[in-house]
Amino acid sequence: MGSRIMKHVTQALGKVHLPLGGILPTKGTAKAGGGRGTHLDPDRNPPRAARQDLAMPATPSNSSKTKFQIALEVAGDEVKLKGAINAFREGFYAKSNQAPHTRRRQDALLLAEKVAKGPPFPLSVDTIHGFSAALKVAGFKSAKSYLTELKMIQLELDMDISTAARRALELAKRSLNRNAGPARRAPEAQLEDFDAKGKSRELVPNEVAFPYLTYALALVFMLRGIELEELTWEDVFFGAQNELVSLFIKSSKVDQRAQGATRTLGCTCKSRKSRCPVELIKKLKMKHELQWPGSTATNTPVLRDSEGRKPSKATLAQSWSNSLGKDVQGHSPRRSGAMLYATKGMSVAEIAFLGRWNSGVVYIYAEEALSRLPANQAGTLPCRKRRRQAIRPTTGLSNNAVAQVGLQSWTF
Ligand SMILES: [Zn+2]
Repeated sequence: MGSRIMKHVTQALGKVHLPLGGILPTKGTAKAGGGRGTHLDPDRNPPRAARQDLAMPATPSNSSKTKFQIALEVAGDEVKLKGAINAFREGFYAKSNQAPHTRRRQDALLLAEKVAKGPPFPLSVDTIHGFSAALKVAGFKSAKSYLTELKMIQLELDMDISTAARRALELAKRSLNRNAGPARRAPEAQLEDFDAKGKSRELVPNEVAFPYLTYALALVFMLRGIELEELTWEDVFFGAQNELVSLFIKSSKVDQRAQGATRTLGCTCKSRKSRCPVELIKKLKMKHELQWPGSTATNTPVLRDSEGRKPSKATLAQSWSNSLGKDVQGHSPRRSGAMLYATKGMSVAEIAFLGRWNSGVVYIYAEEALSRLPANQAGTLPCRKRRRQAIRPTTGLSNNAVAQVGLQSWTF
């Protein structure tokens, strides 16, 4: 019995050890190159065109075959099917979640085996209690997701969860929540936290190039670390009069169809030039062009280290921290941007749209930001009336683009 279960466990874990690549088209191969300008074109909305490029499936090698014939061929070929399955399983979790998920799964199994003194499945009430209690004592903030992982492994082993075990899981989650204290969040840092010296640290060896400007870009668009990593200069568009800047964000955690998303911010020079997204991103582009001539006309990454290489996540966080003089993480600009916009009066719905959130985390950020303002003093909490009205540029933009430009009426 024990060895059969362990075989299942190994298989279940094997599902998360996903070899990269396969015979199915990936995002990278599906992306058609060229054709995307860096200015908004009145006759063509480049971000939308880019979105279509990404959604296009790669052309099959033999175009005379019907799609069903290809499916039959793959099904009948052991090697092709294996590659297809591996690539397919990569789609179970967002790219940014795969590594943490694999680690969490392995850790959950290790701990459960220790508590159960052997194979932990099917989960007993005692195993669930012991597993949860150990995590709580250790102060694990994400203990609930470990518990969920354990339950998922059992389901994937095709074992039913008993009524008693289901109840034990419910109660365990309740106890894990009780007195759990505040969640750990990436430290906040606003653009004002960079002093003159921090801003002037532009090309330090083995650090991210232009840390202040890359942080600013990530903050104003509330980018996830992976979105910033994948952004290239072909995804950055400026309005004809530099009145706005658009980013085509390739794919994100919540974008399961990998269609990408376009977000636009307007110039805020009249109210706050130092925080104007157009100015900041134009400056970053100019500096890249000086350092690596020709790079901004191609699909060169916006995030590079001083030697032009792709920086690691640790290098990114360290470079930003060095320039700020305090510790921040890769997620800091995203959280800080949400808090800034909440303080300035942007609604949660608009923050969620700009930051592409569909989870409740955005409410937590807004609450954190607003909780610092005195709620009983008239006019302290931001309200819509206090926003400045800006004239929306309507020439040469699609209705969709105009709707997005509406966001520029905020005073950032
Ligand atoms: Zn501006």
